[in-house]
Amino acid sequence: MEVTRRQFLQLSTTGVLGASALGFDLAPASRIKMSLRIEGATVSHSVCPYCAVGCALLAYTKKSSSGKVELLQIEGDPDSPVNEGRLCPKGASALQLAVSRRRVESPLYREPGAAEWKRVSWDFALDKLAQNIKASRDRTFVTTDAGGNVVNRCEGVAFAGGAAFSSEEGYFAAKVMRGLGVVHLEQQARV
Ligand code: SF4
Repeated sequence: MEVTRRQFLQLSTTGVLGASALGFDLAPASRIKMSLRIEGATVSHSVCPYCAVGCALLAYTKKSSSGKVELLQIEGDPDSPVNEGRLCPKGASALQLAVSRRRVESPLYREPGAAEWKRVSWDFALDKLAQNIKASRDRTFVTTDAGGNVVNRCEGVAFAGGAAFSSEEGYFAAKVMRGLGVVHLEQQARV
């Protein structure tokens, strides 16, 4: 069947354009029963953690036959005035944050001089972090500036908050850092 460009547009606008209009038999295709992967899934609202735009997400979860809750899909929330259902490529790959086979699930530590990373516990990682922050603070704390003014500041540590921080988390983080004398404070949402 020959269809001119004009006929093609006419068929499209009248809603009858389809494979049958073009001479194909649609009967076999109409017999195929399809169900959405997210059918019956629980929908949860979330926010993309990557940047300060704060696009809203919909996360679909469902209990598998083994009883485990599985994350099936993450997509933009069409009701959000921020992104109206859209996501950039980073946000669109947010599912990988949870289900990627390459996801690192525990802290890794490479000792000074070592070539290999080794798995460590969260307790080890947090202790190490605290020890290193204290050591840097002790080493770089400045009590007076060049003009003899008392400044009491730590110049050897910088802190950057994440865009997914809640107001309370941001407030708490700023308090802790200022308590340490840290003056280089930044927030991803401002970058
Ligand atoms: S989807 Fe993209 S633009 Fe939106 S918050 Fe995530 S990283 Fe930012």
